[in-house]
Amino acid sequence: MNAEPVLEDLDLHRMAKVQFDRAAPYTEVVDGWRGMAQWLFEPERIVEVVLPVRSDDGYVHIYRGYRVLHSTVRGPGKGGIRFHPEAGVEEVKALATWMTWKCTLVDVPFGGAKGGVRCDPHLLSQGEKERLTRRFTAALGDTIGPHTDIPAPDLYTDAQTMAWIYDTYSMMHPGSANLPVVTGKPMALGGLAGRAAATAQGGFYVTQRYLEIAGLPGLGSLDGARIAIQGFGNAGRNAASLFHEAGALIVALSDSKGGIFDASGIDPGQAGRHKDATDSVIGLDGTEQLSPKELLEVDCDILVPAAIELQITANNAERIQAQLIVELANGPTTPRADDILAGRGIRLIPDILANAGGVVVSYFEWAQNIENQQWDDAAVGTQLRQRMHHATEVVVTRRAAMVDAFDSYRDRWQETMPEAPELPVPDLRTAATAVAVQACREAAAQRGVWP
Ligand code: NAD
Repeated sequence: MNAEPVLEDLDLHRMAKVQFDRAAPYTEVVDGWRGMAQWLFEPERIVEVVLPVRSDDGYVHIYRGYRVLHSTVRGPGKGGIRFHPEAGVEEVKALATWMTWKCTLVDVPFGGAKGGVRCDPHLLSQGEKERLTRRFTAALGDTIGPHTDIPAPDLYTDAQTMAWIYDTYSMMHPGSANLPVVTGKPMALGGLAGRAAATAQGGFYVTQRYLEIAGLPGLGSLDGARIAIQGFGNAGRNAASLFHEAGALIVALSDSKGGIFDASGIDPGQAGRHKDATDSVIGLDGTEQLSPKELLEVDCDILVPAAIELQITANNAERIQAQLIVELANGPTTPRADDILAGRGIRLIPDILANAGGVVVSYFEWAQNIENQQWDDAAVGTQLRQRMHHATEVVVTRRAAMVDAFDSYRDRWQETMPEAPELPVPDLRTAATAVAVQACREAAAQRGVWP
């Protein structure tokens, strides 16, 4: 008999607020709590546009697009654009908030932003995607720009999408050097060779460093680690190759159609060729088929959600078998699931740290475009590794300090906010969020409130 499903709040923006509220007690936001907290949490600007697009059959279809600028406290907005049937304003607000924290953690001089168009990219031809992208870019007008808000790829958008955004923006701003308006561009348009794999590469460096400094019982490195990856797109596919090259066994993989399992290890190269030929990883020779749900619960050491949000919830967190979760996707785990995982001793490297490699290399691409230079690939790789290792060390150290002084933080918080829910013992997500919120708070205080 199936257990009754547990009801929990699955609104992503409220989920981000719970994460913020759990982190704030460890920051100076506590002094002057309400106004400062609202300033640091609420988005600065929300744009919603209606997009008429002619489809190949001649009809006009209407789509809705969103761009949210969460914070410019530390610099211009930066964040991806996704095409997804469930893209909506609350989701985009949450994703923009996480971008602010992510940019702060890896110390790139940007604030957070995000965009989305509600559409099913699987049902659109290449021509329809191009017209939709161009219409969205035109509708955003001067809300995006090289020094205001700089988009990048995300779910179901890629270098080609970025090339169309650049071209459309450039047609609207002739006579200017517009390359830095968007990152994740093709190489021929000022892109960086390492950008496509950067999110996965960053997650790989974070995992590697975390295992070196914190370790897992029976696992001091990636060599021999059994890894399951949900999602086989930009983030998941590149991660599978990187972990495999480091000696890990990829025991399970999935995409939107389903998953595959092989306890002796899947070759990501073969899985990639199979996916290119058949549009899914399902059916790869020598593998057992899994449902998307089963993939998350598979027997493995490290679970890498690299697909979409809200995958690990109060309804399956009890059944996760991994010792460590590395969130390459944004928002895959709910706060209630965080608590269940922590209670079971399962560690989790949060999205704002694990997937920050993409924005680091986007920053390098933006900087090389501003300078009209071509950066060296090897230097980009070295700098990415250094930043990801450093951010991991900062978060692990901060968590240890927060745990040590937990009682005094909790008492001070209860005095400040007697009606607030009880503070849980801080995990890595709370530590990462606290590092980021504290840095944003310092920047905001130094700038002052204008006028
Ligand atoms: P993508 O479009 O390249 O790939 C998405 C993959 O997820 C596809 O393989 C798709 O089949 C799979 N998928 C979708 N729904 C699924 C489901 N229910 N179960 C299993 N698989 C499913 O997207 P991406 O760029 O790899 O982004 C994946 C995640 O990583 C997103 O959460 C995104 O926000 C995050 N992320 C991406 C970047 C980046 O640079 N691309 C940066 C930071 C974070």
